[in-house]
Amino acid sequence: MKIYKEFLFDAAHFLPYAEEGHPNRRMHGHSFRVVVWLKGKPAAETGIVRHFEDVEREIMAVREKLDHHLLNEIEGLEFPTLERIAAWIWDALATPLPEIARVEVHRASCREGCIYDGPEAE
Ligand SMILES: [Zn+2]
Repeated sequence: MKIYKEFLFDAAHFLPYAEEGHPNRRMHGHSFRVVVWLKGKPAAETGIVRHFEDVEREIMAVREKLDHHLLNEIEGLEFPTLERIAAWIWDALATPLPEIARVEVHRASCREGCIYDGPEAE
């Protein structure tokens, strides 16, 4: 069974290795929507995979590191593509939430997104 929790954050970034003259080389901002999925068997006694309060606490700690930051200044996000943001969020949550199964990062204004199913998936 899978459960999910969403969070939103706003952040600036630029892509230093984009082609010369490409708008992505200039600093700009996005509103991101992130969906974190956890997978597991609901415990027999509680009927839940994981307390949503636990999930909320952990994803808010991650959100705090991203929201209203310049993503390029965050260690591990020096070249902050959607793909790297998704993997960075996964890495930040994998220890506190070992049931993690998927991270979706949506950039609604661009109608784009990335789905990451972990280092063992493509
Ligand atoms: Zn961008």
